Amino acid sequence: MTTKSHLFYQTDSRRPVLAEARGIYMWDVDGKRYIDGSSGAMVSNIGHSNPRVLDAMRRQMEKSTFGYRLHFETEPGEKLAAKVAGLTPEGMEKVFFVSGGSEAVESAIKLARQYAVTVGQNSRWKVISRTPSYHGSTLGALALTGYNPLTRPFEPMMQPMPKIPAPRAYLDGLDIDDPATGNHYAEMLERKIIEEGPDTVLAFIHEPVGGASTGALVPPAGYMQAVREICDRHGVLLIHDEVMSGGGRTGRFLGADHWGVAPDIIAISKGFGAGYAPLGAMIAHDRLVEPVLQSGGFMHGHTYAGNPLACAAGLAVLEEIEAGGMMENATRSGDLLKSRLNDLMQRYAFIGDVRGRGLLLAFELVSDRQSMRPLPKELNAHSELVELAYEQGLIIYSRRTRDGVEGDHFLVCPPMITTAAQIDELMEMLTAALDRFAERVEP
Ligand code: PLP
Repeated sequence: MTTKSHLFYQTDSRRPVLAEARGIYMWDVDGKRYIDGSSGAMVSNIGHSNPRVLDAMRRQMEKSTFGYRLHFETEPGEKLAAKVAGLTPEGMEKVFFVSGGSEAVESAIKLARQYAVTVGQNSRWKVISRTPSYHGSTLGALALTGYNPLTRPFEPMMQPMPKIPAPRAYLDGLDIDDPATGNHYAEMLERKIIEEGPDTVLAFIHEPVGGASTGALVPPAGYMQAVREICDRHGVLLIHDEVMSGGGRTGRFLGADHWGVAPDIIAISKGFGAGYAPLGAMIAHDRLVEPVLQSGGFMHGHTYAGNPLACAAGLAVLEEIEAGGMMENATRSGDLLKSRLNDLMQRYAFIGDVRGRGLLLAFELVSDRQSMRPLPKELNAHSELVELAYEQGLIIYSRRTRDGVEGDHFLVCPPMITTAAQIDELMEMLTAALDRFAERVEP
């Protein structure tokens, strides 16, 4: 399409116009079909155009699409909050709806701070996060984001927040299954808390299973538990950013469920609305919310938050996940896809690592596996391979991973309904794209 557009997003590159989407497939207006191999940006977890979700939304639309929260409670809001509270760790009973991931993270750090102020811990305001990480694009969430290209222009406008390295054992040559590795990285958190002064540290935020910034990073053995213990020891709140890993994609409702670790606050979005409605939530432990509500209320909110249409969609999404056994399928299809991605390492020496849980999976390209050095920057692998796959009709998602300027990883995260036959189809396209990419690496 060459007609002038008045729309703009992050870049000026333009894509074909979307005509329709069903299940794991999408079609452009010229009739070309694509496999949505990244569920958009790890959003369309239950696939596109699920008829029962669309029905639920239609039914809600006939009743009401908006009821402002200061004027009305809504039935879908109440039902969805109850459902979510039932899926999260004990005591995490309070659900605050928002319309996206950045809003969920902002809400989490603001609730943490207001709780601290309410209980007389005024000195606590620093939120420690990791590098690399992505926690959102609004200025509060961006201050937690460890990814220079995104943060640099805005630095004068943000409060700098302390950072520790993400536990990238595969780059540091450490054994992910050895609890000593988990302790090694968790101790970095404790050292940072002590360096900053424990009574100034409000919270630590991290993604239980990493998203785009780390490429589906799975924490080493013992890390999740050790982080919880360190936070408890220093009175630091633990926030899990499950914006991408939550909602079932890893095979459990929350990524952290794989380790049985409960945080104090959870941020979810993406697969929660699953592309049917802009929806997210901040879920907090009762013991944080009650004092805040008793002392005048949470000084935070967004106009569209918890609107009945988005909540009806979210409720129907969760019902579909349960009815369709989609989390079980995410585990089954995820294991199959991961083993197929691992097989690619025999064929392409430049695939250095395959990682992830369920259908939150990624592979990373390197110059050689011994050193894990990245591919030369000039190859522009992160965008070139995505384009080659796109030509094949396969959508995958990439990010530069080392200090934000080099290193290339690719998320392969099709919807949780993907079948074994569809994984064959996806792999065929991915292999064709990798074959063409290989010609550029080894001319
Ligand atoms: N947190 C994580 C882990 C994310 O992956 C994202 C988005 O990619 C966000 C927060 C921000 O979400 P949103 O883009 O919906 O504001």
